[in-house]
Amino acid sequence: MTERSLLSRLSQKRRSLLRELGNLADEGRVSLYLVGGVVRDLLLKRETWDLDLTVEGDGGAFARLVADRYRAGLAVFERFATARLAFPDGLKMDIATTRRESYAQPALLPTVQPASIEEDLSRRDFTINAMAIQLNRARFGQLLDPYGGQCDLRARVIRVLHAGSFQDDPTRIFRAIRFEQRFGFRLDPATARLLAQAASMNLIQRLSGPRLQNEVLLLFAERDPVRAIARLGQLKLLRFLHRHLGYTKSVKRTVAAVPKALAWWGRRFPDSVIDKPIVYLMVLSSESSQAVVATMIRRLALSREQAKKMSTGRDRVNRALKRLTDSGAVRHSQVFRLLADFSDEALVLLMAKQRSTQSGLRGLLKRQLVAYMKNKAVKTALTGRDLQAMGLQPGPQYTTVLGKLLDARIDGKVSTEEEERVFVRKWLGNQNVRNDY
Ligand code: ATP
Repeated sequence: MTERSLLSRLSQKRRSLLRELGNLADEGRVSLYLVGGVVRDLLLKRETWDLDLTVEGDGGAFARLVADRYRAGLAVFERFATARLAFPDGLKMDIATTRRESYAQPALLPTVQPASIEEDLSRRDFTINAMAIQLNRARFGQLLDPYGGQCDLRARVIRVLHAGSFQDDPTRIFRAIRFEQRFGFRLDPATARLLAQAASMNLIQRLSGPRLQNEVLLLFAERDPVRAIARLGQLKLLRFLHRHLGYTKSVKRTVAAVPKALAWWGRRFPDSVIDKPIVYLMVLSSESSQAVVATMIRRLALSREQAKKMSTGRDRVNRALKRLTDSGAVRHSQVFRLLADFSDEALVLLMAKQRSTQSGLRGLLKRQLVAYMKNKAVKTALTGRDLQAMGLQPGPQYTTVLGKLLDARIDGKVSTEEEERVFVRKWLGNQNVRNDY
């Protein structure tokens, strides 16, 4: 394969854009490269989405030029000498300045200084991610591979560029596992030793919450994170989520059941948007106490919404599962109350937990969940205003009456407004009789 043909794996539109940007770089007398994951993915013939460019020269000025020329949105991150462009057609492009990084302290963010493309590539995580394709006209499509990335891609190997790599930046531990599992590659033996060594030190502890969160959630967002999670367990890395996180046999079984539970959920409720990484975190902490979960939420600096999803609690999940699969006699309204504030993620967890244990009752739970999701849309015809018109004194009993009415609707005992009125009158009558005693 000629190097030029590497870029021919991109769409005609993207290739023309890159050619134009190369010409623009010539005008601005800077060298321009496509770099990192996109080069790796082109070589692997995998689909690529976003484009990462790097400029030997002033990347910020070049990014402004491109933004002006293409009417693209621009955000500049001075500290990291990078800019992000959003093109009108939805394409996202990062433009960075080639740089050297130095780590004053392990695990903290590095200081950066402009440097050559070779130096820029040498600070990268793995050889397979340390390649560039030049875009300037005279060398359009030429591959730069100073560290043997192509060779490692062929050998399906993940290899760090130097022995201190994981210690400089322990996020690379997670990245190594992510790429290893995504591509089905293996760690080069020396890299595996360095990784195990770095994992056994407490370097990850020094990562800030948002950086750890980013890595963990990216790993769990992979197409099939089950083996990656097993890898984390094997390397005793789950302790960085919480030192008392119990990675028991049953948690392992539930993790393994998640992909099928998610697939079923996605087929059955296509409109429900599931935060998949959070499901995996919930499963991993599904046998932990509320206190452990709360500490984990803080450590990972999860958002309020994610924290809320995580907080359903082991006991409530277990109780709901027991009740829903105990016997067929539970009423729809009872299911509704039992699951009232469960997030959809918690329902997927329920499904996965069930899958990992009593498979015979799966059909029952599925039916309950389908009915529950349908019942979420059920509303009573009568409102508080109607109750007032029926002569009921405003007060807390409105909530009780409307709740009973909703249960009756859900259980199919009433289905019209008139039936609701009869139901309310009858219920009030019973209450009065009871109060007369
Ligand atoms: P993905 O396909 O998951 O997006 P990617 O390789 O494109 O993977 P990014 O996180 O987008 O990953 O990073 C782009 C490039 O930046 C990487 O290919 C790598 O060259 C470099 N890089 C990213 N994170 C690190 C890191 N922690 N240490 C060194 N280099 C990194």
